[in-house]
Amino acid sequence: MNPDLPTLIAQTRDFINSVVVPREREFSGQISLEQLETVRSELQVLGRTSGLWLPHLSKELGGLGLPWTQAYQLFIEAGRSLLGPQALNIAAPDEGNMHLLHVVANTEQKKRWLEPLAAGLVRSCFSMTEPPPGAGSDPSMLQASATKVDGKWQLEASKWFISGAWGAAFTLILAKTPEGATIFIVPMNHPQITLKRVIPTLDHFSPGGHCELEFAHLELTDTDVLGEPGKGFEYAQIRLDPARLTHCMRWLGIAIRSLEFAEAYALQRQSFGKTLAEQQMVQQMIADSHIEIHASRTMIEHACGILDKGQRVRHEASMTKVFVSETVNKVVDRCLQIMGSTGISEDYPVSQFYKEVRAFRIYDGANEVHRMSIARRAFRRAEARGT
Ligand SMILES: Cc1cc2nc3c(=O)[nH]c(=O)nc-3n(C[C@H](O)[C@H](O)[C@H](O)COP(=O)(O)OP(=O)(O)OC[C@H]3O[C@@H](n4cnc5c(N)ncnc54)[C@H](O)[C@@H]3O)c2cc1C
Repeated sequence: MNPDLPTLIAQTRDFINSVVVPREREFSGQISLEQLETVRSELQVLGRTSGLWLPHLSKELGGLGLPWTQAYQLFIEAGRSLLGPQALNIAAPDEGNMHLLHVVANTEQKKRWLEPLAAGLVRSCFSMTEPPPGAGSDPSMLQASATKVDGKWQLEASKWFISGAWGAAFTLILAKTPEGATIFIVPMNHPQITLKRVIPTLDHFSPGGHCELEFAHLELTDTDVLGEPGKGFEYAQIRLDPARLTHCMRWLGIAIRSLEFAEAYALQRQSFGKTLAEQQMVQQMIADSHIEIHASRTMIEHACGILDKGQRVRHEASMTKVFVSETVNKVVDRCLQIMGSTGISEDYPVSQFYKEVRAFRIYDGANEVHRMSIARRAFRRAEARGT
């Protein structure tokens, strides 16, 4: 039986502070993919026996089996360090891939791919985005295609910004087929996959980096198809609903920790005869950050309640993704400002957080695209209501 929720939350905070945070100090600014892989594996050895491994996943797969309305609180705690989600095996993209495989994969695929992923023995990636003129914000621009020749699938694709691809054991790849978009599960050591480059990016704490991949004349069989051909977009959505929310949870942890650093600094630092904490403009930045973090937590909790009822959470996940990603960026930026030159330095992790959080406004759907979808749904409802 699991300990009660307050105990689990306290244990997660203690694990992050005592086991994970000390490892952060080994890296100032830059971290190589090799270093990140090593620290990830070492932390997972401790994470696996911490009693906090995979809070949201079923007990059969080694998780705690918590409902989302409870698990999200552990995700936020783990998210206080960039290495925390790695330690508990709840980092992207593996966490989203586990969810999708759990829901859609057949018994054989679960045994081959999901079980080692949940055990932390392997990493995975999700290959959807393509270089122009392929799919980016608009998934209907998908160029990757697979056709059947003599009973075997032949897949051709160029993909980029595929997080975790370097060192991953397998990828889920979205491609057009005559039935519609289809997801295939492909081992990354396949000779027809070329890792063209690890793309240099602003962020550095994503194991396996963000990679450009080429799939040329890749031969696959029906056993490599996830679920049914033609249901690829539906499955991608099954993955994205909770995956968008778990990004919100993890990054909210970073905003909360940044605020702790900024508050501690403001209480100590004198300026114009009083502490920064006594300066009204600093107070406003602190107050606004608390308000927006509270609103973010409330939105996440609400969306988790819908997920726990087994209902689709597309609209709420979109609104939450936009609000939380903008909140996290605003809060980390304010905290860095409050800390002045110390914020810019690598003496504190806030400068690194600043670099890491920026991409969240772009991936999992750029915020502008979410706003477009939210507005479209709103107008559809307005039309249905009539005037
Ligand atoms: C760090 C990082 C990790 C990623 N990891 C993965 C991964 O693991 N797997 C994967 O498949 N992909 C991944 N991606 C890709 C990500 O999903 C795409 O960046 C995203 O879908 C946007 O596509 P794009 O970059 O091609 O932007 P584009 O489609 O070129 O759009 C550029 C910008 O145009 C604007 N825009 C686009 N459409 C509209 C519109 N309708 N209205 C208003 N403005 C609009 C937005 O501001 C958008 O940011 C990752 C990206 C990043 C940055």
